[in-house]
Amino acid sequence: MTQTNRAFVLASRPDGAPTPANFRLDTAPVPDLPPGGVLLRNRWLSLDPYMRGRMSTARSYVAPVEIGEVMVGGTVSEVVSSDHPKFKAGDTVLAYGGWQDYAASDGAGLRKLDPEAAPVTTALGVLGMPGMTAYTGFLTIGQPKEGETVAVAAATGPVGSAVGQIAKIKGCRTVGIAGGGDKCRFLKEELGFDVAVDHRSPDFTKELKAACPDGIDVYFENVGGAVWDAVAPLLNDFARVPVCGLVALYNATSPAPGPDRTASLMRMVLTRRLTIRGFIVTDFAAQARDFARDMGEWLRAGRIRYREDVTEGLENAPEAFIGMLEGRNFGKALVKL
Ligand code: NDP
Repeated sequence: MTQTNRAFVLASRPDGAPTPANFRLDTAPVPDLPPGGVLLRNRWLSLDPYMRGRMSTARSYVAPVEIGEVMVGGTVSEVVSSDHPKFKAGDTVLAYGGWQDYAASDGAGLRKLDPEAAPVTTALGVLGMPGMTAYTGFLTIGQPKEGETVAVAAATGPVGSAVGQIAKIKGCRTVGIAGGGDKCRFLKEELGFDVAVDHRSPDFTKELKAACPDGIDVYFENVGGAVWDAVAPLLNDFARVPVCGLVALYNATSPAPGPDRTASLMRMVLTRRLTIRGFIVTDFAAQARDFARDMGEWLRAGRIRYREDVTEGLENAPEAFIGMLEGRNFGKALVKL
């Protein structure tokens, strides 16, 4: 019997928040083993906010997914068959297999994983791209110093949770911003943040100010929008703002209401001598070794902890992805295939 490959393709581009109708589940025969390559069975799919950008044609740092193309995504995959000298059937690899059951690969970019060394899903989270994003952006642009106050939003996600815990390791006071009481409790009780503030609280701005009596020296920007509005007045002279993501804006269809605030932002940049710098994790590819060494050590020593939010079944990937953009995930969003 011919086995089938199920694949989610981009059916249409979202206008605002994505809906299930933007995705279509296609079926086709499992691809053949490519000459010199490998055939992969995807076991875990990573869901990441950047995928929202790939659904759109707005100018970005990479090309969008075209209509009818398989949605892209990092995967932990098993090698089904191999014609590649470096991989054999049964190997577990980190791949970019996309939202589908199977993927054919020429082997480029695949990394063999050792399931004995760490749970394989960590290659998509704390030991993978999100962890590296936190480590490189925070340390290189954030330049944290002992005793400084570090604030981060989306603080229970894979990027934010790593930023906060690295900040603690560096001797900083850590302020986590998250949506809801459960997430805020988790930040303090499980991840060791000094304070946690709920951005859904009607008194969020006041509560954040109270949580930062000495202002903010490093704000790791993951969300933008109303959280940024509350953070900006608290930034100290010479504060650093690594701009990592703006998830609050990814579904926006029009500018925020109110007057244009560019002029007041520029005045603040000047008078407080702020460093605000955007980055993409690949800018810091040269730090991959340092990251793997430090993060691996911190993880083994229990100084960094992580949480995963697992959805069962490829068919549920769109709902889980849509939910993640709204904060319904609690930890690294993964789909078990
Ligand atoms: P998360 O798992 O943290 O998921 C996104 C979270 O954003 C949600 O869970 C939600 O958490 C929060 N959120 C959504 N909407 C809002 C809002 N309006 N206001 C405040 N918070 C909101 O994602 P990641 O850890 O994977 O990614 C975090 C950020 O890092 C994203 O912006 C992403 O695009 C960026 N990123 C950038 C990279 C780069 O190279 N520059 C690489 C990887 C990620 P809550 O319920 O707590 O509000």
